Amino acid sequence: MGVLVTGGAGYIGSHMVLYLADRGEKVVVLDNLVTGFDWMVDHRVDFVQGNIADNALVSRLIQDHGIDAVIHFAGSVVVPESVENPLKYYRNNTAATRDLIETCVQNGIKHFIFSSTAAVYGMVGLEPVAEDAVLTPVSPYGRSKLMSEWMLADVAAAHPMTYGVLRYFNVAGADPEMRSGQSTAGATHLIKVAVQTALGLRASMSVFGDDYPTPDGTCVRDYIHVSDLVAAHGILLDHLRAGGESRTMNCGYGRGFSVDEVVSTVKQVTGVDFPVVHGPRRAGDPASIVAGADRIRSMDWEPQFDDLPTIVEMAYKWERYLNTRNDRPAV
Ligand code: UDP
Repeated sequence: MGVLVTGGAGYIGSHMVLYLADRGEKVVVLDNLVTGFDWMVDHRVDFVQGNIADNALVSRLIQDHGIDAVIHFAGSVVVPESVENPLKYYRNNTAATRDLIETCVQNGIKHFIFSSTAAVYGMVGLEPVAEDAVLTPVSPYGRSKLMSEWMLADVAAAHPMTYGVLRYFNVAGADPEMRSGQSTAGATHLIKVAVQTALGLRASMSVFGDDYPTPDGTCVRDYIHVSDLVAAHGILLDHLRAGGESRTMNCGYGRGFSVDEVVSTVKQVTGVDFPVVHGPRRAGDPASIVAGADRIRSMDWEPQFDDLPTIVEMAYKWERYLNTRNDRPAV
């Protein structure tokens, strides 16, 4: 048995690789290194630079490494970019995923786990959103991922393959042993921006909107630690390998924090009172996105880092480490 991890040189994929290697799995990573970094790939696993839509390459990897399961992270993830360049998203996230799944079917892959997103739900209300909610994504990014979810369901109905779809909420933090972390150049995520501001890499940061219908007026999100997130994939993989049926699951803790709460936690954890500007809303931001977490909690999943200061501290430590590298990705 072996696992092919696509996008294993990226933020979440590299943590998946650590999780699998730590438990002794045979792993091969396929990543085109467009946004990932080869130094993020754990040395215990094989790494191949290439394209997930390359049928000959992926077939060879599956056969040479005795792969029974694919965990598919590779893709494009920037929502505003997907609005400006939708065809890039339909190519990288939808068309390339179609080709990858086809290669998997041709080579008898038994299990396929797919990185999806809370963006498949679209403009949700203030309550936690469960998996069976109506799916009305509002961005090409969300639609490109939802189409892949549908493809997987159709393929699994027609071929002997089971699948897991994991819809991520706001992923944050870094490996507790500091072997990987969020390193994407030009990242815009709240916790990353705030720890960069605490480190003086940015002069100040903005809170986008404080007139939302939330307790303090700023947006609420469900921040999940990346190591807990990848552990959910591992548990789902075990479930599928044990003959369990395909599942679609939200990946969040089922509780939210506001932007102001995150900013004040970053100030507390870092001890730096950095400048924060309260600015206008950012286009397309729903007031609150919190996971309905009943399904994931019903699995054998025991989150280790459901604590905002812990998540922030690990993100901060990783950012401090990145700052010592000569090849530090652009802020
Ligand atoms: N946010 C903010 N300032 C920033 C970055 C983000 O106020 O510099 C807010 C953003 O408007 C949203 C929340 O923080 O309400 C989380 O944004 P992020 O981009 O991290 O993730 P998203 O929920 O958009 O996927």
